[in-house]
Amino acid sequence: MKNINTDFDLFVIGAGSGGVRAARLASQSGAKVCIAEKDRIGGTCVIRGCVPKKFFSYSSKFSKHNIVAKSYGWHHEETTFSWDKLMENKNKQIEKLSNIYRSNLEKAGVKIFESEASIIGSNIVRLSNGDEYSAKKILIATGAKPNFPNIKGANYGISSDDFFELETLPQKIIVVGGGYIALEFSSIISGLGSKCDLLYRGDKLLKGFDQDISRIITQELQSEKCNVKLNTDVIEITKNKNQFEVLTNDGERLKADLVLFATGRLANVDCINKDLKIKINSNNSVCVNKKYQTTIPSIFAVGDVSNSDHLTPVAIREAMIFARNEFEKDNGNYVIENIPTAVFSSPEIGTVGLNEDQALKKYKKIDIYTSSFRPLYYTLSDINIRTYIKLIIDNKSQRLVGFHMVGDDAAEITQIISTLINKKINKSDLDNTIPLHPSTSEEIMTMRDMVTKEI
Ligand code: NDP
Repeated sequence: MKNINTDFDLFVIGAGSGGVRAARLASQSGAKVCIAEKDRIGGTCVIRGCVPKKFFSYSSKFSKHNIVAKSYGWHHEETTFSWDKLMENKNKQIEKLSNIYRSNLEKAGVKIFESEASIIGSNIVRLSNGDEYSAKKILIATGAKPNFPNIKGANYGISSDDFFELETLPQKIIVVGGGYIALEFSSIISGLGSKCDLLYRGDKLLKGFDQDISRIITQELQSEKCNVKLNTDVIEITKNKNQFEVLTNDGERLKADLVLFATGRLANVDCINKDLKIKINSNNSVCVNKKYQTTIPSIFAVGDVSNSDHLTPVAIREAMIFARNEFEKDNGNYVIENIPTAVFSSPEIGTVGLNEDQALKKYKKIDIYTSSFRPLYYTLSDINIRTYIKLIIDNKSQRLVGFHMVGDDAAEITQIISTLINKKINKSDLDNTIPLHPSTSEEIMTMRDMVTKEI
């Protein structure tokens, strides 16, 4: 064994949202902590996920807002879009955020290793230069990487990670997948003016979401000029000069300048030495118990690398629980439930609580309130975007158990509703709230259109 150095109380591998939070909290509670990161500090969310995606998403919405602006009397000469400018500003901001993460770690007293790290023993981590460190506890927070389907020519496709580094925006793009990334990037591509085909193998987009949300977003994407093709498998991709041809299961040959795979992400478990007896789940994620402990008691895992929802706030919450449990001896019974989530498609989707199928299964009899309307903002223009809101109420207790929305500001509204669901409010609490007029949220307080369903 080469250079066994000073012990750490905690060695964190991966400086993304989960790793950084765990390292800072553990260090602030007096532990001696280090963190290793082979890429830039910030992880998926900051470098190649939530943050740059939201910049792209904001940018893509201006094409529509410019049309609406004209209906409000604004006149401007021809508007043009510069991919270079968007990329330059995005890169500057990401750099800034990464530096803030770094300085927060340093201020908290965490030692940073800019290196790949691998776990070679229950308490030993080796860096790429061969140096080895021992630690009482090791936390795996290495996130996940794009999954490419096993099809001929898949190597011609790129992932969303690569999309953030494109030098130019291609004019015709095929997106494969039907989840978060597929919908968000299809909207970005269409909004920025390129042609987009969205190919999804299933019959309803966004598996696991409420079926009405899936139906409505499919219609909305089509009306935003994204060509959604359901029940479509990609059989093969071939390349001819700078163009790609995608052969689908129904024999169609679609041409594109770029193929983007948004077909899920797989846990990054490369840092775990194969000889270690850490249980890996069938989907490649690290198996952990309620304390985020792997099958080796000194080794823990939080965030996308384990089997939890791939969402930044979930990774951060798990990191907080881990740090409190292990370094503050706080054994509080934390539960992570009613996770609000948004798909930053155009229009946006927000959801929290149970979908209709889940609520029916759990409560047997539910009241479903829905509202679909054209927001005031668009009414002066020809744009016919609608907002859809769905409340799910347990018929017996009259408690609000699910909220689903497609429309502008869905993410913002869903965040607030998640507190109401946690607080177990009833439909009558909404009815008794004075609506704020004119606003989108007032609809939630005035919903009357109801059907009862039971099984
Ligand atoms: P998702 O799990 O959301 O979607 C993956 C999609 O790819 C599904 O539609 C799936 O189909 C399809 N798919 C999987 N394997 C294949 C295959 N072999 N061939 C064809 N299609 C396939 O993953 P994403 O990649 O969209 O996003 C990764 C993770 O990142 C998500 O889990 C999400 O939680 C997170 N994320 C969150 C965001 C947010 O909070 N706004 C934004 C972006 C990502 P099927 O449905 O049939 O399984």
